[in-house]
Amino acid sequence: MAYDVVVIGGGPGGYVCAIKAAQLGLKTAVVEKRSTYGGTCVNVGCIPSKALLHASEMFAEASHGFDALGFTAGKPKLDLAGMMAHRQQTVDQNTKGLEFLFKKNKIDGLRGTGKILGKGKVAVTGEDGKVQEIETKNIVIATGSDVAGIPGVEVEFDEKVIVSSTGALELPKVPGHLVVVGGGVIGLELGSVWARLGAKVTVVEFLDTILGGMDGEVAKQFQRMLGKQDMDFKLGAKVTGVEKAKKGAKVTFEPVKGGDAQTLDADVVLVATGRRPYTEGLGCEEAGITLDERGRVKTDDHFRTSVEGIYAIGDVIVGPMLAHKGEDEGVALAEILAGQAGHVNYDVIPSVVYTSPEVASVGKTEEELKKAGVEYTAGKFPFSANARARAMLKTDGFVKVLADKKTDRVLGVHIVGYGAGEMIHEAAVLMEFGGSSEDLARTCHAHPTMSESVKEAAMATFFKPIHM
Ligand code: FAD
Repeated sequence: MAYDVVVIGGGPGGYVCAIKAAQLGLKTAVVEKRSTYGGTCVNVGCIPSKALLHASEMFAEASHGFDALGFTAGKPKLDLAGMMAHRQQTVDQNTKGLEFLFKKNKIDGLRGTGKILGKGKVAVTGEDGKVQEIETKNIVIATGSDVAGIPGVEVEFDEKVIVSSTGALELPKVPGHLVVVGGGVIGLELGSVWARLGAKVTVVEFLDTILGGMDGEVAKQFQRMLGKQDMDFKLGAKVTGVEKAKKGAKVTFEPVKGGDAQTLDADVVLVATGRRPYTEGLGCEEAGITLDERGRVKTDDHFRTSVEGIYAIGDVIVGPMLAHKGEDEGVALAEILAGQAGHVNYDVIPSVVYTSPEVASVGKTEEELKKAGVEYTAGKFPFSANARARAMLKTDGFVKVLADKKTDRVLGVHIVGYGAGEMIHEAAVLMEFGGSSEDLARTCHAHPTMSESVKEAAMATFFKPIHM
């Protein structure tokens, strides 16, 4: 059977590309080595982490009590196995949903490890070792990413005491002390889950700030908020060793600026120092597919690799390692393969940290604008001045809108606070259409909503907000 498109990897990049290609009338197959579709995101990433984030947030809210809202509820009792069952059920619902969508769109699912044999040829090795060779007009590499270790430090993951994000999603009990190496999104999200469930959490981060690359003011405020939730931070700290001890493990680090080494005793260490593109066993070298200096598959702006008819999308290529970035690339590539004009606007990719409260941003940060010498105006509005936030006791945080000083075009929006991950999308839509902060400020927002703070922050870029 010859295909129009064979996608290697059934994660958000790959499965979305396959569904769109099939919808556009292309004969499509997906090669996936896991037993379920959905890739890192659905199986061990976005989805299980959000299930635990939500459940642990509810637990923490109930633990702190509802007296301020005028009622009492009994002290909650943690049923960790039950919480993990909720996590797994959420994952299962999503993987089953994908099976259904594959059937509905008549996509052939080929279980096994895919290897590119050259232009138009893929070998699929099943679990039983049997090899099937398939022919196709186009090959899409969507093999994603895998856990990266700590540069220069040997880390032996046993996924019990020294864990990656995958192990941190299924700890059998709440650790007394969890040390998180890496203050990025994944470390903070999972660290905050276990902190809410009762662990003491210490985050050790190389940079002087958490969430490196996010707007500096947002990152600082966010660190203060996490500090109030009993998360401790060692910033500017270079981890030099992670070793198992008689009981638990030891993490050794030294100040980046110089000074004495320190050691932390941990029950569990979560190493969350980033992810690396995954191309093992794919046959890139033999097929003549060029990788860049960081091991990513090199592509042009139409997702073409160095070999004609072979394309790549998602975590395995350059760009933010985010599920929705891969999904949008999947759609754009399927459209290109079907003879249409697919395109991704990399300037408007929202990014969300799903902690409590959330952090969300789209577009440029103040630091990036300063570095690029762009003149801008900044408007800020705190949730403490928002009526809905007061009614819900969710007044921590603010919205910041950055607009071009001359044209008023919105260049970036950054939000830290309850519901930030939903609110950010009005900014994304506005930016996609090249809107100005005055457009945002003059758009009628329902009252009382948290989103009114976005409107008021936009007002503050060119005049004054009303409620402050
Ligand atoms: P992947 O999802 O990694 O999928 C690649 C698939 O290819 C895998 O299933 C793999 O088994 C398969 N594969 C690899 N090689 C082969 C081969 N040779 N043959 C057959 N199959 C192969 N992103 C967000 O946007 N939002 C979040 O909230 C979020 N949370 C995250 C939380 C955690 C804990 C982690 C680890 C990641 C999170 N991410 C999040 C990142 C997100 O998971 C990735 O950006 C996304 O999964 C990348 O999609 P992908 O399709 O490129 O690759």
